[in-house]
Amino acid sequence: MFKRAVSVCSELKATRSFHKALQLNQEFENPISRTLRILTDDIRNKKKEILRDEYTPSLSRGFPRQADVVIIGGGAIGSSIAYWLKEKTSLEGISVVVLEKDPTYKSCSTALSVGGLRQQFSLPENIQMSLYGAEFLRTLKKRFGPTADVNFHPHGYLLLASQNGASQLVDNSKIQKELGAVNILLSKENLKERFPYLDVSDVELGCLGLEKEGWFDPWSLLSLLKKGATQLGAQYIHGEAVDFTFHEQTDIIVEGVETGNYQATNELVVKLPNEDECRTLEFSICIIAAGCESREIAQQAKIGVGEGMLSVPLPIERRKRYVYSFNCQQNAPSINTPMVIDYSGMYFRRDGLGGSFIAGMSPELDDEPPTNNLDVDFSYFDDKIWPVLSKRVPAFEAIKVTNGWSGFYEYNTYDMNGIIGPHPYYSSIYIASGFSGHGIQQAPAVGRAIAELILDGRFMTIDLTRLGFDRLIVDQPALESEII
Ligand SMILES: Cc1cc2nc3c(=O)[nH]c(=O)nc-3n(C[C@H](O)[C@H](O)[C@H](O)COP(=O)(O)OP(=O)(O)OC[C@H]3O[C@@H](n4cnc5c(N)ncnc54)[C@H](O)[C@@H]3O)c2cc1C
Repeated sequence: MFKRAVSVCSELKATRSFHKALQLNQEFENPISRTLRILTDDIRNKKKEILRDEYTPSLSRGFPRQADVVIIGGGAIGSSIAYWLKEKTSLEGISVVVLEKDPTYKSCSTALSVGGLRQQFSLPENIQMSLYGAEFLRTLKKRFGPTADVNFHPHGYLLLASQNGASQLVDNSKIQKELGAVNILLSKENLKERFPYLDVSDVELGCLGLEKEGWFDPWSLLSLLKKGATQLGAQYIHGEAVDFTFHEQTDIIVEGVETGNYQATNELVVKLPNEDECRTLEFSICIIAAGCESREIAQQAKIGVGEGMLSVPLPIERRKRYVYSFNCQQNAPSINTPMVIDYSGMYFRRDGLGGSFIAGMSPELDDEPPTNNLDVDFSYFDDKIWPVLSKRVPAFEAIKVTNGWSGFYEYNTYDMNGIIGPHPYYSSIYIASGFSGHGIQQAPAVGRAIAELILDGRFMTIDLTRLGFDRLIVDQPALESEII
């Protein structure tokens, strides 16, 4: 691509000197020369436009005809990938286009997230990604300048286990510590002492994160990643990916596909706002990072609707999750209250000062709320959350819900973990989605991992091989015991 720019530049120089010669003779210009001059001007302007479109790092650039990497979805995951691809290659490197259908981000998961960061997982990959998430937040100012801030509250997570879950908590804590997390196990007595506002009569064990855990503002992280990516030359386009185009590639042999029948894709069909006709965008690599809409986009690439390897769908569904705000004025848990995760799945944490808190809980599988809107069902709080919440914290018995919101998890129904890496059928399509409630904290690590795969050809820092699409084909789920 860079070579092409150089050759276009030298052509431009040639047309410029031709044009200059014509200008000197303008007084005696004959009609043929005049036509030639106008044509040359047009060609020169068009070439300038092409160069500007492809190489000027600005949002106001026109629609590009091609890009080395196209990312579908400009949420935290897509923007982190864009940031890392450009960070690792700088301005002279590959061209990166991020396609985002809603630049207001009003209903994307990132903007509606609770922003929790914990290492209290069971799967080593999740622990490592979240450790890196904490490291990334710690070094934000180095990357994005002295004003960079995501308002991180380092109050830790407190996971509570009943008798049934206690041994899992012990096992998890061990592996977390081996990988560099810092936490302590707390007996019922220890819990009572440290957190007198908790009723732990039915709790067997707790695990408290002492470092690198807490919560932050997801919107600020998205803004920084997006700004960082743009400044390094990534181009954000307001448009919707609506289809892929395919072509036969006879020289590729893929298991389960008759020789000569392989269908490759290197072109995306894009619908721009206020345009009736769709545009096409050529790519070397296209990354599906479209949150809870990733499955539909994968289907456009025949993933889940084809034969052989393409018969396996991307198992990502939209799942609605409610978050409720409430206020507690009397005997409110102290200012350094951690994010408390009850063994029932209910969680609560402080939300600023003045006795403000938020709480939520994932519904039972057979009780999932409708996903065609983002309405909040306040009776869910009264019926399901409040009984657990007020039992766990007696001071919450008298609280009133003040507000609430809902957002969609990009829920991986197969094993509730991110699907990260290339699709085994296509060398040109990568997936980074399905994080099922723990994607915001993993965004920095996922962006870096995808950039490594593309630029270095393998994972260089955290080995995420087990989280690839292949696990769906060979049926080896990457199970995580601590899904919230
Ligand atoms: C209520 C709630 C609480 C959460 N709490 C936590 C938490 O405490 N900790 C944590 O780590 N994670 C949490 N998460 C999960 C986390 O927010 C997500 O995993 C993460 O934000 C996913 O980011 P994303 O970029 O993949 O998806 P999104 O943020 O949804 O971004 C995807 C983008 O793709 C765009 N898009 C979709 N289709 C197209 C298309 N065809 N063309 C162009 N663009 C398209 C969308 O407009 C969207 O902006 C929570 C999520 C919710 C909803």
